[in-house]
Amino acid sequence: MGNKEAYIPGMIQKLGDGKKAPQIFCLEQAVVLKSTPQVKTENLRQSRRCQNQFLNHERYTYFNICPKCSGRGKKNYKLRKKSRLRFQIALDEFEKARGEGRALVRPKVTQYLCNHCSGSGLLPASCSPLPNSEIYPHIAIIGAGIGGVALAVACLHRGIPFTLYERDKSFNARAQGYGLTLQQASNAVKGLGLFSLQDGCHSTRHVVHTTEGKEISEWGLRTHLNSNKTPKRKNVHIPRQALRLALMEQLGAPSDVQWGHRLVGLKQCEDKGVELSFQVNKEIKRVKADLVVGADGIRSIVRSLLIGEDVTPLRCLGYVVILGICSLQALEGVESSLLDLTTVFQTVNGHERIYVMPYSSDAVMWQLSLPMSEEEAKALSARGAEALKEEACRRIKWHTPIPQILSATLPAQISGYPIYDRELLKAELLEKAGPVTLIGDAAHPMSPFKGQGANQALLDALALARQISIACRALPKWRETGLRESVLTEFEEEMLARSASKVQDSAKAVELLHSEKVLREGYGPKGRFL
Ligand SMILES: Cc1cc2nc3c(=O)[nH]c(=O)nc-3n(C[C@H](O)[C@H](O)[C@H](O)COP(=O)(O)OP(=O)(O)OC[C@H]3O[C@@H](n4cnc5c(N)ncnc54)[C@H](O)[C@@H]3O)c2cc1C
Repeated sequence: MGNKEAYIPGMIQKLGDGKKAPQIFCLEQAVVLKSTPQVKTENLRQSRRCQNQFLNHERYTYFNICPKCSGRGKKNYKLRKKSRLRFQIALDEFEKARGEGRALVRPKVTQYLCNHCSGSGLLPASCSPLPNSEIYPHIAIIGAGIGGVALAVACLHRGIPFTLYERDKSFNARAQGYGLTLQQASNAVKGLGLFSLQDGCHSTRHVVHTTEGKEISEWGLRTHLNSNKTPKRKNVHIPRQALRLALMEQLGAPSDVQWGHRLVGLKQCEDKGVELSFQVNKEIKRVKADLVVGADGIRSIVRSLLIGEDVTPLRCLGYVVILGICSLQALEGVESSLLDLTTVFQTVNGHERIYVMPYSSDAVMWQLSLPMSEEEAKALSARGAEALKEEACRRIKWHTPIPQILSATLPAQISGYPIYDRELLKAELLEKAGPVTLIGDAAHPMSPFKGQGANQALLDALALARQISIACRALPKWRETGLRESVLTEFEEEMLARSASKVQDSAKAVELLHSEKVLREGYGPKGRFL
């Protein structure tokens, strides 16, 4: 074997706090000095050690997609010879019969996690890939909420050029203080470069009580410890703004976001691009993009401009939500194991419901919900935080520590509003949308009672970036064929199919959690009774 030079490039990473991370080595980048079996084994060991270190929650800033799985995090098992042959014979017969007879079903491909990147689709790098306008379309992302920022990050990792527009003037322009529970997305966020959520808390127990404090249901990791079952994942609770910031940090300077840009118009151009109009201060600014993604939330202007507001209008579900964040310091002296920051609890009376979860390392978030007409809920909300707190304290005189939490919450940390969703979006409604699509609440708004909205927005963002990356590299002629055909139709089909049951179950959960059925004793998440 020849004596090649030893070279294992160590990549110095920039950490969020400006410090340098330890050197890391990637399997892919290890070039072997002397290709003796011992050197190979040592290199492999070193690479594995370093990869594990990376997976062990170090905070890296830059990533490239994994070349082994093209950033998908998964690979396909090869079809068995027998299945391939069987399909080929059926295909030949189908063609001979000129497409008559039973429609052909392609054999299902089984997938497995890519072990090169441990399923994230990413590998650490010394810098982000440069945006490649030759291969990829330039994307205008409307809305820097959870879905919009996640899409920008996933594009950054793939060298897909984008501009992120947000109507708010800055990151903290509005109070957006509530906590999210990441369920499926607690794993999926690794595909967005978030290997450890510094501000997230894990809950290990979820318990349901009657108003007197009697436990009627329990589930979670601690319950599993007493049984033989192992839970598939851990839920992570994190303030919405902390998750948004963790994503935003990867984009670099906050000035990279076009703050203060409110989208007001869209026009498809003859060259297959789109002209966007933004209100910026009092002026109208026009820009062009190859692809527009509406990540502009439940009252999406992109959706409204595409399909009109009358087709699937906002649907008020007839409930109000009052929520607050209470610091544990304000609860000093209140003795309760429910405040251990690893327990989620809810208390129900068949009509009203309060849900309390860890919010941060020193606070809990509560969410009171009850049936109320849209008009009444809007009027209550308009009366302000003091009125919302008064309403919550007046209604809920339940077991410890609920009254104590409500009364210790500062009005500045309380908000409340009616809740809405929309009828399911049908793929046909987007057929004529050209190079414009929707993700997150803009595509599939849902009630917050199954905690799925942000989870789905994150999955949408990752799925869209992966689809753009793979399809545009495979079909570089997307400018001629059009992005709808080459990218969007397939993406939307997957997104709408995945999120449909979440929208429907979230609507059913509202009814269930405020009905007598919720008082039934039993073990397992209440949602499973749907
Ligand atoms: C109380 C509550 C609790 C929740 N709990 C959970 C939970 O536990 N788990 C979970 O998964 N989900 C939860 N959700 C839902 C979750 O917050 C949303 O589904 C998620 O934020 C949707 O993300 P998005 O990016 O689609 O929209 P958003 O995060 O709403 O972002 C939309 C962005 O678009 C901007 N925008 C709007 N119009 C324009 C315009 N014309 N031009 C430019 N920018 C514009 C907005 O300013 C905003 O920044 C909860 C929601 C609520 C209200």
